[in-house]
Amino acid sequence: MAAVSGSSHSQPVRTGAAHTSIERIEELGIVGAGGGGFPAAVKFQTQVSVVIANAAECEPLLHKDKELLLHASEPFLRGMRMAMELVGAREGVVGIKEKYHEIIEALEHAVPAGIRVVALPDCYPAGDEFLLVHMVTGRVIPPGGLPKDVDAVVSNVETLINMAVDRPVTHKYLTVAGAVQTPVTLRVPVGIKIGEAIEAAGGATVSDFGVLLGGVMMAKPAASLDDPVTKTTGGIVVLPATHSLIQRHNAPWLHVARIGRSACDQCRFCTEFCPRYLLGHPIEPHRAMQSLGFATGSDAAVATLYCCECNLCTMFACPEDLDPKTVCVQNKPMARERGLTFKGDPKSIEPHPMAEFRRVPMRRLIARLGLGEFRNEGPLVDHVFAPRKVKILLKQHAGAPAVAVVKTGDRVRAGDLLAAPPAGKLGARVHASIDGVATVTDDAVLIDS
Ligand code: SF4
Ligand code: SF4
Repeated sequence: MAAVSGSSHSQPVRTGAAHTSIERIEELGIVGAGGGGFPAAVKFQTQVSVVIANAAECEPLLHKDKELLLHASEPFLRGMRMAMELVGAREGVVGIKEKYHEIIEALEHAVPAGIRVVALPDCYPAGDEFLLVHMVTGRVIPPGGLPKDVDAVVSNVETLINMAVDRPVTHKYLTVAGAVQTPVTLRVPVGIKIGEAIEAAGGATVSDFGVLLGGVMMAKPAASLDDPVTKTTGGIVVLPATHSLIQRHNAPWLHVARIGRSACDQCRFCTEFCPRYLLGHPIEPHRAMQSLGFATGSDAAVATLYCCECNLCTMFACPEDLDPKTVCVQNKPMARERGLTFKGDPKSIEPHPMAEFRRVPMRRLIARLGLGEFRNEGPLVDHVFAPRKVKILLKQHAGAPAVAVVKTGDRVRAGDLLAAPPAGKLGARVHASIDGVATVTDDAVLIDS
């Protein structure tokens, strides 16, 4: 088991650029580090009046963004100014949970003119960019739209730091939480095994466990402890194999559909708590549940396209422990095929009058999810990783997989370019995180030191 330094991380990064460009962001392979992986060079090719830094971090037990604001505020604010310059924004806003009083106070002293800090309620899913934009600006992004449709760009804290640091993205900040000896936030080389990150948190506290990647609400269950860390892995949550969250995230679709068909009593709780429905969007998960009782193509399924997959309906709202979120996800392709898109006037969208009062406090969510026994902390610690091997996936971002520009047997150094997006396709470059010899496979470049 690797040792974890107990000392808090000192201000880690002060070097970097004062200005950047779209070409430079593309060159560095910067993508949305909050989980979406959208190529930053594409996102910032727009002109808007406000840049919003998303520090809402609403997945239970994760602390990465808050820790970065605590320990790396200087490069963060520099990245913020770079982003504002790129998109011509007059205003920058840092959206952070109100419970982080000390960080808010420190930021308020540090922010330059034109940037302000907005304290957000400690609720889920405050980090959903549609909700965040509404809380910060009062504007509602239209269904299927983007923040730029309401004159804004939203960026994750770590993405902005990556811009300021001005080096190829070879490392990732992430929180290791749940059933581990020492919940921590770490800076790890991209491509190490998630098992290595868990060991750096002191290892699992139970012998039989499952791992959720990215958080517990919008999680992707890890197939194996050998799965590699990518540029979008913001959290690794270890839970006992018997924990209901592990069971639910692994439930097969046929089971979800069979139980849902017989047990849904159309109480509407899923819809009444749905944050996108409350924002005024045409999404009603209880209607998606009706579609289970009809043939494919039922009109009841249409109200699913604008589901953001936050999982609140399934994990919190439904009293019958059904899975309306998965039903929505399953129905989306059919809704798309039938062209069932929003055709109304975006200006007519009005948030629900009860929206503010139906926000789900994080404390209640943690209790409902059965996570109360785990330490809700993740201090950023220094931990030196010296992996002998890494697996750098060719697809760690939205868009097409990158195409290798190195060959098997090539010797590479940390920071070298390994792969680039195919010509004319959305994608991002990937770089080596360690020195070594490359082996190119269908989906990755392996590096062996
Ligand atoms: S909350 Fe559950 S039981 Fe109620 S309508 Fe939704 S899926 Fe059905
Ligand atoms: S997962 Fe459920 S609560 Fe979340 S947006 Fe989709 S339907 Fe609404």
